[in-house]
Amino acid sequence: MNLDEYKYKDLIHRCFRCGYCKFPTHWDDVTNCPSYARFRMESYSNGGRLWLIYAWLTGEIPWSEHLTQILYTCTSCKSCVEKCPLSFNEDIVNMTVAAKAAMVEMGRLPNLVKKFFQNVQLYGNPYGIDAQKRSDWMNGMPVESYGGQEYLYYVGCEGAYDTRAQKAARATAQLLIDGGVSFGVLGNEELCDGNEVDMMGEEALLENLATRNIQQFSDLGVKNIITLSPHAYNVFKNKYPEFGGHFNVYHSTQIFADLVKAGRLSLPDKSGARITFHDPCFLGRWNDEYTAPRKVIKAVKGADFIEMDRSKKGALCCGGGGGNFYTDFLGGSEESPARIRVREARDAKADILAVACPNCLTMLEDAAKAEGLDDQLKVMDIAEIFCQV
Ligand code: SF4
Ligand code: SF4
Repeated sequence: MNLDEYKYKDLIHRCFRCGYCKFPTHWDDVTNCPSYARFRMESYSNGGRLWLIYAWLTGEIPWSEHLTQILYTCTSCKSCVEKCPLSFNEDIVNMTVAAKAAMVEMGRLPNLVKKFFQNVQLYGNPYGIDAQKRSDWMNGMPVESYGGQEYLYYVGCEGAYDTRAQKAARATAQLLIDGGVSFGVLGNEELCDGNEVDMMGEEALLENLATRNIQQFSDLGVKNIITLSPHAYNVFKNKYPEFGGHFNVYHSTQIFADLVKAGRLSLPDKSGARITFHDPCFLGRWNDEYTAPRKVIKAVKGADFIEMDRSKKGALCCGGGGGNFYTDFLGGSEESPARIRVREARDAKADILAVACPNCLTMLEDAAKAEGLDDQLKVMDIAEIFCQV
């Protein structure tokens, strides 16, 4: 690809590499771009990455595996969008996604990215696990198949297959049952939602997944969807309309907040606990939902709710977005964003780090173990604070 063929050819040169995009609101030795925090090299910040893309498009530098890997360390967390002072800031993450799409088109991808796409194509999930095991997460639970209930509960690949995230999927289903919500699931018929595929630049695969999901939802008469993952929430809400899929989409914490308000959930007693909350990028910065999860946590009896230094729009990403929960390009260091984040929770003197995303759950729990904090800091999905099944 050359500059003329690039979707953002009239915008990309406008980044003047001021560096504002990688810092939090206060200037000190912390950074809010997870890939820059991990590697501490300009080319891993948004500005540096855009300049690399520009240099590649104009032929100043050749393609290299290293260039592609740098692109895929961007987690699409959107923190840079919040910080960039220029009017084109809404497009700066899309510019990297478009460069990833060019890599997909050329077939020059890191092996782990290739594997991710192959698994989604062959098995309907990035883990490469048999689609017939997709419903294993709900074994023994009284969960109905979808057939005209008010809501479809869309569990997603992490909740269905990752053994840690399965517990969050179960707790969420149980809370919906406890709250008297009419819902059903797709079981083994559920298919990857495609949010990560989108963020990783595989446009044809996203279209394939979105079209098949929309067809299935429409055939079943689905109107309202509850998602476990903010990633699925984001793609259903913001991307599926482009493919003709128009549904009312809710994240589970939005439903829980309504159930709490209506007095339809029994509130757990966690006397003496100090709970903090890690905002998931695809609920917070991508969809501006900061209130619902906090309402639910604040309903827990006897607990203190505390904010970490960085929260809401300024929260540090766990490092799992853009497929990195699978590829783990940001792993393997004390400066891996998930490890920085659990240290922030420790510094806030929290004993429960509440999350609302299965990716954050697995990333941060692994990080707490790596930091030797797992005895003093429990990483829990908000639903698990209410019930564990
Ligand atoms: S993306 Fe925006 S904030 Fe970042 S270096 Fe470029 S102009 Fe500056
Ligand atoms: S989206 Fe996140 S990881 Fe990517 S450049 Fe922006 S701040 Fe860094």
